[in-house]
Amino acid sequence: MKFFIINCRTFFKSPFGGFRGLFLLFVAATCNAQSYETQFTKPLGQVLQEIGIRFNVKLKCEADTVGKVVSFADFRIRPYSVEESLTNVLSLFDYKFAKQDDKTYKIKVYEYPRRTPEDGAKLLAYLNTLYKDSASWNLRRATLKKEVRERLQIDSALAKCVQSKPILSKIRKFDGYTVQNFALETMPGLYVNGSVYTPLSKGKHALILCPNGHWGGGRYNSDEQTRFATLARMGAVCVSYDLFGWGESALQVTMTAHRTSIAHIIQIMNGITILDYMLTRKDIDPKRVGANGGSGGGSQVVLLATIDDRFAAVCPTVSLASHFDGGCPCESGMPVQLAGGGTCNAELLATFAPKPVSVVSDGGDWTASVPELEYPYLQRIYGFYGALKNISNIHLANEKHDFGVNKRKAVYDFFINTFTLNAQMLDESKVTIEPEKAMYSFGDNGEKMPANAIREFKQVERMFDKKADAKIHSDIDLEKRAQSYVDSLKLNDKEKETRVYAVIRTHMRAVRDWHNEHPYTTVPAGINPRTGEKLTDVHRDVIACSAKPKSVHENLMTGLRKDLTEQQLETILDLYTIGKYHFTLKGFKAIVPDMTEKEEAYVISQLRLAREQAVDYKTMKGEISAIFEIYKDNVERYFNENGRNWRTMYKTYTNKLKAEKEAKNKTETEKK
Ligand code: ZN
Repeated sequence: MKFFIINCRTFFKSPFGGFRGLFLLFVAATCNAQSYETQFTKPLGQVLQEIGIRFNVKLKCEADTVGKVVSFADFRIRPYSVEESLTNVLSLFDYKFAKQDDKTYKIKVYEYPRRTPEDGAKLLAYLNTLYKDSASWNLRRATLKKEVRERLQIDSALAKCVQSKPILSKIRKFDGYTVQNFALETMPGLYVNGSVYTPLSKGKHALILCPNGHWGGGRYNSDEQTRFATLARMGAVCVSYDLFGWGESALQVTMTAHRTSIAHIIQIMNGITILDYMLTRKDIDPKRVGANGGSGGGSQVVLLATIDDRFAAVCPTVSLASHFDGGCPCESGMPVQLAGGGTCNAELLATFAPKPVSVVSDGGDWTASVPELEYPYLQRIYGFYGALKNISNIHLANEKHDFGVNKRKAVYDFFINTFTLNAQMLDESKVTIEPEKAMYSFGDNGEKMPANAIREFKQVERMFDKKADAKIHSDIDLEKRAQSYVDSLKLNDKEKETRVYAVIRTHMRAVRDWHNEHPYTTVPAGINPRTGEKLTDVHRDVIACSAKPKSVHENLMTGLRKDLTEQQLETILDLYTIGKYHFTLKGFKAIVPDMTEKEEAYVISQLRLAREQAVDYKTMKGEISAIFEIYKDNVERYFNENGRNWRTMYKTYTNKLKAEKEAKNKTETEKK
């Protein structure tokens, strides 16, 4: 192993205080030596590159390779298998590969909820050995239903729920159906908001709970509205409601709170609480209660079907797989899949047998395996009850992951048959797509939020006696900061604000994550070769953070320039660096009162560089100051090399300050 130096500058004591000048001494572990004594070590990035060339495949690397080395690197290669070679290398780092096509693999960090169809096949084959008839299956089923509740901690959440009446909006009437918004308090001060689609026809109606997935535009998007309204036109009351932290729930806890295990509990709690409320309505037929949702909404449907016996028919859409539990913490944040010693969504859905289920799948996502794996598995369980007619799979082999018209058609057909809906009313063209704000309960800007409403995610955590990862809170703080930067520009253009916010948020997260994942301890505590002085912790911090990909900075600058003027862009950079540019420029002008235009232009050019570079560093006192020191050093050298004497000017300046202070003290003493 040896170290190499990319760039190095000196540093010395500054009249401004603190050290200055610097380094960018990048110390990276690398090794070209190829012998037993050095364990044939190579950097991970290089090993992957060589595997790509050797097997003629493209490796798209999403995982961080910086500073990571592979011992016995070439000996891990299996000349006959790219996949075995990748496994041998990646398993050292908790990384894995995902095959995208014959020539492309994605390198990712290990994800427990996302496995492979081969893994799913093995799990289902194993699960099939646990039960051979309805009697043995019923035992397994009882264990799963009990343990899922425990793993999800749903009962303690439900015990804390209040029995309140929802806040209801005016009813809006459309062709064959009405829509009414609601905000239902679940736990004290915590609301779930949604809209109820009710048929215009009289009598008792079927009820279909429609938990939302992670679709763009959430429950407000037109695919979603179309489905709810069409089912309502045919005779089913449909309830659409926000994901936790999405839609109006974001007013209470921010969107970031969605990506927590608490969301997993709350969303199921919301479904059950909404069902409790809906069953108090006189127009609902309690024997015809169903659930349908797509993607993450489908994951909720499976869990609701496992937990709540009041459901009579369910239709998880583009979600079910034995090898994927759902990629969002709201689907897999609680260890539900560890129930019964290890389970999967396909087995959980099987606990619904023999009641009617239709699984909608497609060829363009993880549900591509349903016809070969999950559907035959479910058929076997339904066979235990002689209820094969109650399980179906609509597989759209040429479609992708969405809730498009053909998937909706599959859902309509299923509920027309199981809940005897009126097929003659099936006509999506009769649906009115409402603007998002029409579907709010809390007003256009949340101004109608009830006085008792929770307004911070921390309040929710306290009710769950559970603390989310520190990163979630860091995310929430970071997002507030990004939003305040955008707000300060007063752009008065919602779309532009959203884009600028996204650019800043992405950049801030990249800077923070790189900083946290590459602490100064990853840089050896060596010396600066230029001066022989020991590197301080801040030096090592800057070295570690300066190794981040260039794209982090480039994406920020190009992203901002797409929507902002140069002046607005500078405002953002100033906010990042808390006005250090202006403060330092003022300092130079005070020290060099007779600064020429040419000199000033140079000072400004250096401080602009400092400001732009400093935004990529996290700590204000440490790294950002260190970056400014580099350029302040340049300015001082420039003065020295162009006929000025910095030390003298600085001394004159401090003497002047001292004299002024003394004069002031004297006047004050005389006054007394
Ligand atoms: Zn989610």
